[in-house]
Amino acid sequence: VKQDLPLHKVIMVGSGGVGKSALTLQYMYGDFVEEYDPTKADSYRKKVTLDGQDCQIDILDTAGQEEYAAVSFFIMREHVGRYLRRGDFREQISRVLDDDSVPFILVGNKADLANSHRKVTKEEATAKAAEWGCPYIETSAKTRLNVDEVYTELMRKIRARKESQ
Ligand code: GDP
Ligand code: MG
Repeated sequence: VKQDLPLHKVIMVGSGGVGKSALTLQYMYGDFVEEYDPTKADSYRKKVTLDGQDCQIDILDTAGQEEYAAVSFFIMREHVGRYLRRGDFREQISRVLDDDSVPFILVGNKADLANSHRKVTKEEATAKAAEWGCPYIETSAKTRLNVDEVYTELMRKIRARKESQ
């Protein structure tokens, strides 16, 4: 991977078991990994083409059961070196970064499952996204529904933010 390409950093946050690793691995490798160590956090990088431009995406897949120490967020700022606890991720990340304009996407994963398995209604999720001022996208790491869309949209937001700074 060429070092001089623009690098867009994404972090997956959310409760355990929601499919952060499955989404990351589906996007990275085009495979649905059904059993991934729930305690494992890792980062992934690959070269991608975004609207005809070569760039790199870096995805940090957090493991959720511990505080996220020294993580890098969606934006260029690196190694915040503070701690987040569970709860309102949007608010906590903005507070830790002291920044209200961090690009976010709220993802509702496992859209392939029957509606009876749904834990959060579309209305609740849409309302939360409106409150956070971010898009809401339903995905399936299993069928690859909207997986590329999530990361592409995030990279567009990150790029736009960098261009505006
Ligand atoms: P994480 O703890 O957020 O990283 O969650 P994982 O990626 O480890 O996924 C937790 C469980 O949900 C695993 O058994 C996955 O196979 C399953 N899973 C993840 N994404 C999907 C999905 O889109 N559809 C279905 N049906 N199962 C999924
Ligand atoms: Mg995981």
